[in-house]
Amino acid sequence: MTKLLEGKTGLILGVANKRSLAWGCARSLADAGMRLAFTYATERLEKSVRQLAAEIPGSIVLPCDVTQPDEIDRCFEEVGKEFGGLDALVHAIAFAKREELQGNFFDTSKEGYMLAHEVSAYSLTAVARRALPLMEGREGSIVTLSYIGAERVVPNYNVMGIAKAALEASVRYLAADLGPRGIRVNAVSAGPIRTLSASGVKDFSDMLDRIAEHAPMRRNVTSEEVGDTCQFLVGPHSRGITGSVLFVDAGFHIMGI
Ligand code: NAP
Repeated sequence: MTKLLEGKTGLILGVANKRSLAWGCARSLADAGMRLAFTYATERLEKSVRQLAAEIPGSIVLPCDVTQPDEIDRCFEEVGKEFGGLDALVHAIAFAKREELQGNFFDTSKEGYMLAHEVSAYSLTAVARRALPLMEGREGSIVTLSYIGAERVVPNYNVMGIAKAALEASVRYLAADLGPRGIRVNAVSAGPIRTLSASGVKDFSDMLDRIAEHAPMRRNVTSEEVGDTCQFLVGPHSRGITGSVLFVDAGFHIMGI
């Protein structure tokens, strides 16, 4: 039987290890038959990304630090050469200095603020622009990862909440720009999941406990659940959806108290 995303291609930014939400997305897209390209930001992670990519037949691995415009250019050139076009782009990257993910938000440094926004928010626009010529005319779909800290105050999330607000606004502006070119842009707002980046947020374990106690489903979500929603947003069943933020958080976002 033909798989839903057979013959389609996708670029996944943000796999660091097996726990990464990007890996959950990659598994789900690959299970549906999509051929994938992976990126790594630093040589430190190259080996681990290559090992994971080897689990998905036909995939390729490229360097792409989103703070380096030339590297982003080269990455998309390579993807164009290898795949000839692109159907999906999954943006699952974020960064803030550990010291900015605790204490008072008003202590955020200008440098830390700019860095968090460059990597976690502006990069979506930077990669979408490069993806446009590869995705146009193929009913392409771009998916990014956000968090409820974009719209509510979450202790210690601080500057990353502001960056996620910018990211979600970028989703709407990009969706408006790219819709006429046949490309959809959406975000998944995931509940907290223990990953490398998440461990940088002070008292992260307390967040997990609170969700398990108060979310309507009385549990936390998994990267597989995030991945399957990503597959939905990439695939034909979501063809009428763009500019949206879809919560995958066991319902936590509906609670007033
Ligand atoms: P993760 O596994 O640590 O992934 C974060 C990725 O961002 C890493 O691969 C990291 O690479 C990459 N990255 C950082 N700086 C980069 C740069 N300059 N250029 C390119 N890539 C860079 O953590 P994750 O939790 O899966 O995070 C993925 C996304 O999900 C993020 O946007 C995060 O905010 C979002 N999210 C996470 C949760 C959660 O609770 N885990 C909840 C909601 C949303 P390096 O390690 O090489 O820097």
